Amino acid sequence: MTSSGLESQIHPVRAPYSARLSRVAASLVFALGVLVLGGWAFDVAALKSVVPGLAQMKANTALCCLFAGISLWLIAGADVDGARGRRARLVSRITAALVVFIGAITLGEYALDWNAGIDELLVRDDPGAPLTSNPGRMAPNTALGFMLIGGALLLSDWQPRRGVRPAQWFALIVVAISATALIGYLYSVTTLYRVASFAGMSVHTAIPLLLLGVGVVGTQADSGPLRVVRAKGPGGRLIRMLFPALVLVPLLLAWLRVQAERAGYIGPESGESLMMATLIVVLTSMLYVAAVQAERMESDRSHAEELFRSAVDGSPNGMLMIDPEGIIVLVNRQLEAIAGYRADELVGHRVEMLLPTRHRQGHEVLRRGFLVDPQARRMGAGRDLRARRKDGTEIPVEVGLNPVERDTGTFVLASIIDITERKQVEEELRRSNEELESFAYVASHDLQEPLRMVGNYVQLLARRYRGKLDDDADDFIGFAVDGAHRAQQLIQELLGYSRVGTHGGELVPVDASAILARALDGLRLAIDESGVEVTAETLPPVCADAAQLERVFMNLIANAIKFRRGDAPAVHVSATRHDREWEFAIRDNGIGIEAQYYDRVFVIFQRLHSRDEYPGTGMGLAITKKIIERHGGRIRVESVPGSGTTIHFTLPAIEGGSQ
Ligand code: ATP
Ligand code: MG
Repeated sequence: MTSSGLESQIHPVRAPYSARLSRVAASLVFALGVLVLGGWAFDVAALKSVVPGLAQMKANTALCCLFAGISLWLIAGADVDGARGRRARLVSRITAALVVFIGAITLGEYALDWNAGIDELLVRDDPGAPLTSNPGRMAPNTALGFMLIGGALLLSDWQPRRGVRPAQWFALIVVAISATALIGYLYSVTTLYRVASFAGMSVHTAIPLLLLGVGVVGTQADSGPLRVVRAKGPGGRLIRMLFPALVLVPLLLAWLRVQAERAGYIGPESGESLMMATLIVVLTSMLYVAAVQAERMESDRSHAEELFRSAVDGSPNGMLMIDPEGIIVLVNRQLEAIAGYRADELVGHRVEMLLPTRHRQGHEVLRRGFLVDPQARRMGAGRDLRARRKDGTEIPVEVGLNPVERDTGTFVLASIIDITERKQVEEELRRSNEELESFAYVASHDLQEPLRMVGNYVQLLARRYRGKLDDDADDFIGFAVDGAHRAQQLIQELLGYSRVGTHGGELVPVDASAILARALDGLRLAIDESGVEVTAETLPPVCADAAQLERVFMNLIANAIKFRRGDAPAVHVSATRHDREWEFAIRDNGIGIEAQYYDRVFVIFQRLHSRDEYPGTGMGLAITKKIIERHGGRIRVESVPGSGTTIHFTLPAIEGGSQ
């Protein structure tokens, strides 16, 4: 696949989990701020320094914790829409701005050697407090940390067109500052070194700053470092696996070394080399494990890719994927064969290159239209689609479209079949049908004349010589008259059948109810004699040849009358809309048809009963089927032998007709 690798492996979803962590961090920081402020307000020394023995947290620092805690809490839950969300964002910005303000002024005080009067604005500092240059003033690195974290909170929404959000940079710098300070503390307490430059930031300031930094990053799981950490691909897995170890192992080793040195097991120099050696071994092993993992993931991936490729190439259809702009991003081997291009000549180009020039512009419009409501469907249903090969020839194709949602937009996977052969077969079938039809027409038409002559003369014989020859001769002449009559009837029907296609009228909007009424008029006598009750729903207007549709109703209702059963024979005519067509149903409660004959009844001259039982030639349904198919519809039987038959047929609805 040609698309960018990392993109496809990262799934930007909201991160309720990391957002929840951010909220926990926010609450802790807020609580700490409240606690220390309370300590100052009621002059409780223990609260001012959180843990007895530690330096005090200045009142302004506590205030910053409180504001930043509020701001972070609101941001972490701020995907609320509407007025509530807007209010939350406003409050979060105001509190963040206050944090920036306090941090910036304090830094300014240090830089300009100036007293802005904010240091002891809330409370008076304890005289002679440790780690304090000016009464009540927070340390410079604390001030910087709060200024940055305030900035991060303030800018948390701002996403520049490219790259990581500035808020994340600020937050990460704060994480770095506070983590370094914490590590410094760890060693200044437990080792011989003292990280002098971080002495100013107390532990209980470093911790809330670290929490705030991590919390801000946690609210932005969809970009920046967390995006990589959460990625499903090898990058994400490696970092998830290695990062905790990379932080914990050196810390643990250093701690062990200090313990060992303190206990006098080793001296500082051997401590140093021992730690280096262990670190090298441990880190190398970790790297090795990671490399093995990465190697396995890569081979899994290339295996999956091979599988994918062979599935795609093994497909009997041509396959092609385009991006939202219509640029080809993937083709399979069959498509190369169909189009006559190599894959590299197609990928990266517009899909329109595969269309005849005259269709290109129109296709662009259709393509955009597809993206408005993307659904798997056949392309250009009902139209003849043609593709243009590299050599300029055009071939008929059938195209299926499938939208594929990706994080960069809706791609479309198209499957393409070259239907040249099918079209040829169809064409041949059509031609041979036509030939057959014209043969049937010519034959029946030309047979009519001699048959009429035979019929007329045997009738003449009958009239003139009945009773004058012997009895056998009378019988024979009678049979000949019948036979000639019947042959004429069959020829008539056959002629009618062959004329359905050639002598049909235009398909125009007609009112099916009116046509049914005409058919019923024609059947009036049969209906009255048989006592069949015919009922009908209001039928819709359809696109049809009126005379032929009348014939359809006549044939079907005549059958329903002829093959009736019981004392209360009834026929019901109805229509229901399906999509672009109407389905008509003619239901009777007659003798029914067994399932095995459902197809046979539509074949010419096929009947299920002898002529003595039920008169007829067996052409009615064959002609009916031919008429329906000429209209682009389908016909089928549904029946329960002994209780009734329903014939369903479809006709195209009039476009725009809502009924
Ligand atoms: P024709 O219509 O040419 O006068 P036909 O009615 O026998 O003769 P079709 O209309 O083609 O011929 O029907 C074919 C056969 O299907 C019928 O002979 C009959 O056996 C069966 N059939 C058709 N309609 C029904 C029905 N409504 N109920 C039961 N059987 C039916
Ligand atoms: Mg019939």
